[in-house]
Amino acid sequence: MFDSIDSTFNEGDDNVKDKLAATVLQLLRGTFTMPKWTIAKRNPFKTLIVTIISQNTADRNTAKAFERLSKRFEIKPEVLANAETSHIEETLKTAGLYRSKTKTIKQVSRIILEKFHGSLQPILSLPLEEARKTLIQMPGVGPKTADVVLLFSKGQPTIPVDTHVNRVSKRLGFAPANGDYEAVRTTLQSLYDPGDYLAVHVLLIAHGRRYCKARRPLCTQCPVNTYCPSRGI
Ligand code: SF4
Repeated sequence: MFDSIDSTFNEGDDNVKDKLAATVLQLLRGTFTMPKWTIAKRNPFKTLIVTIISQNTADRNTAKAFERLSKRFEIKPEVLANAETSHIEETLKTAGLYRSKTKTIKQVSRIILEKFHGSLQPILSLPLEEARKTLIQMPGVGPKTADVVLLFSKGQPTIPVDTHVNRVSKRLGFAPANGDYEAVRTTLQSLYDPGDYLAVHVLLIAHGRRYCKARRPLCTQCPVNTYCPSRGI
């Protein structure tokens, strides 16, 4: 059925689009190896902190900064809320924007400590949209950070939209070209079963890094180029 992308897809045939989305996911599963993460097992506070550090930062620098922070401090709200600002800043220098990230980390740690008895569990146990709203109300926590915490720490059915997920899903025609964060997240979610959300997030990132790069995507080598309306851009 999907020998090539055609106008039917562009005209918004939901059934065709669903099948196309499933085919692309299947091809990406065959191309990349899924990491052996166990969903809902990640420590939510650590996930929150590492995601704050990762904002506008390359993975390698995020990992270095988080490792340095973890060596110096126990990653707990009561510890980070009361840590010396300059001491946290020293550990985060490789991550960039280290002053504002330190401020955010201290503020969210204080809020979790004082409003939620030092645990994110009460928030994670809320219905999904309520939990998202509560997390997003914290300073420096945007929708992507909230969605990462909810998906990776609680297995909540949401797809975090980072720069790769945003770019790749728009090029593939899975999300509206001018869609904002919510438009991309909800249209992408409508194409997949909740059980696939983690794989969709991880595999679109992997695909964006290896083939569907921001500049000069490798369309001729791309494993899903037959199905892509943007191939050859
Ligand atoms: S064909 Fe090109 S634009 Fe389309 S998904 Fe592949 S790399 Fe990206």
